[in-house]
Amino acid sequence: PAEPPRYKRILLKVSGEAGAGGEGFGIDPKTLDRVAADIAEVVREGIEVCLVIGGGNIFRGALLAESGMERASADYMGMLATVMNALALQASLEKIGVYTRVQSAIPMAAICEPYIRRRALRHLEKGRVVIFAAGLGAPFFTTDTPAALRAAEMGCDALFKGTSVDGVYTADPKKDPSATRYERLTYHDVLAKDLKVMDASAISLMRDNHIPIVVFSIRERGNLLKVLKGEGVHTTIA
Ligand code: UDP
Repeated sequence: PAEPPRYKRILLKVSGEAGAGGEGFGIDPKTLDRVAADIAEVVREGIEVCLVIGGGNIFRGALLAESGMERASADYMGMLATVMNALALQASLEKIGVYTRVQSAIPMAAICEPYIRRRALRHLEKGRVVIFAAGLGAPFFTTDTPAALRAAEMGCDALFKGTSVDGVYTADPKKDPSATRYERLTYHDVLAKDLKVMDASAISLMRDNHIPIVVFSIRERGNLLKVLKGEGVHTTIA
């Protein structure tokens, strides 16, 4: 069998729901602690970790925009939600001895560092986990594109997308029991088939920079390290 890929630096993107309780809303400390334990395991293997967490468990801009609020205002609220999740995840990680820094695309000096690329790189070299918050600092995006952008800026070997399913399927496996999982896909497949993996802008950024995307389930404890070692169930897009 082929040697499993060796990662030096990765970016892990999880949706806000990954830290939410049963209803997918709010922050459930127990759930977040489980995700943090997974990340700690990877850090202890000597892998440098960048994180992006979404905000959908608190607020999603597009939803409020539907009820009449200006989309841009709603999206700024969404970005603030990602800052809250970043701080919650930081707390969970530091509780178990992982050093972290939060950097926000929208400067909030009293709460966290502003995003400074070279400073973020230095943190990573020192073994600190860097959590990138507030997305791009621009409306009309989700956190997929900022995750891809930071992965490229930080020179990550791969973008890991932790979801509630264990890969990319031919159809939604929660609705269609005959759906099958893809082992491998090309960026082109995802874009041409319009597979709902990540926003198209994120996929094309990864394609142009030759950074593979690994889609896996963040729901099972210990799965992240398994997937990193090439063992756990996942779909690779390259
Ligand atoms: N958002 C934005 N620009 C960005 C990143 C996020 O406007 O660069 C807003 C947008 O309203 C989005 C919300 O923040 O809906 C939360 O992010 P996302 O939907 O990606 O959260 P997830 O679904 O991953 O939990």
